[in-house]
Amino acid sequence: MAKKQLQVVSGLQLWRWRNQAIADAIAYNISPVEVDWLLLEVAGLDRLSLRLESFKEQPEIQMALTLEDLEQLWQRRLNERLPVQYIAGVTPWRKFKIAVSNAVLIPRPETESLIDLAVAAATHRGAAPFLNSGHWADLGTGSGAIALGLADTFPKATIHAVDYSLEALKIARDNAHNLSFDNQIKFHQGSWWEPLSALKGEFSGMVSNPPYIPTNTVATLQPEVVKHEPHLALDGGLDGLDCIRQLIEISPSYLRPGGVWLIEMMAGQGDIVQTLLQKQGSYCNIQIHADLAGIDRFAVAYRK
Ligand code: GLN
Repeated sequence: MAKKQLQVVSGLQLWRWRNQAIADAIAYNISPVEVDWLLLEVAGLDRLSLRLESFKEQPEIQMALTLEDLEQLWQRRLNERLPVQYIAGVTPWRKFKIAVSNAVLIPRPETESLIDLAVAAATHRGAAPFLNSGHWADLGTGSGAIALGLADTFPKATIHAVDYSLEALKIARDNAHNLSFDNQIKFHQGSWWEPLSALKGEFSGMVSNPPYIPTNTVATLQPEVVKHEPHLALDGGLDGLDCIRQLIEISPSYLRPGGVWLIEMMAGQGDIVQTLLQKQGSYCNIQIHADLAGIDRFAVAYRK
């Protein structure tokens, strides 16, 4: 949500609001921890004053929005399952605080591993020496999270962040600016590799968290996801693999020999993605990696 001028409430008012919100959360089967996380973000309280409830004695607390607006958004959390990250307007991801709106997917904790896998791919024994520099692409960047992670990890590389949605690109650009990565990340509007055709054959690596949920499965996801997150970022077509197939087909002409191809996918897609990569013929050293929950979640390959 857009941050307006700071609003002032008394500690007592906010204490009362918090007690009610915690009771609401429990009644609606939402984790009450969300209430305190929201207050850390919008009222600048610290964990200790929340835990000790000492903020109750503060005559004035400055908030990013009025108590009425907070209450209205909280009611949407309860009744419409609006994700709490869209209320706060931010989410933590790796070491960053990333701005989000409903124009972008909320970056997930499991997606953080893509950056570690990119590092591992670029530094393993036998990796081409150019991999930690040159051009990298984040295709379907959304909030810009992956591009930011890559820029931070590969300070000598230029990151090209692509998205089809102009609204998403605006958020990604703002994030890059706020985190001082404007010079290292270039933004492009378009579909997958399309806006990068001038750099064919020159990429050290490509990372993507594409839409990979089968169309019929989208409606079965949690209401927070299906009612509020952009379906453009979720729906991967009939079998969920439409975008992954495109990325497998088109990427070889963009990657340098030895270049890295790295994506996130859904549980159960590992075998077929591995087969598709093999069949395409331009990839070698294909690996499927599990996430921290033990689910096959990532595929890595190298351009022959
Ligand atoms: N991991 C997301 C979810 O669980 C989906 C992200 C995607 O399709 N790339 O909803």
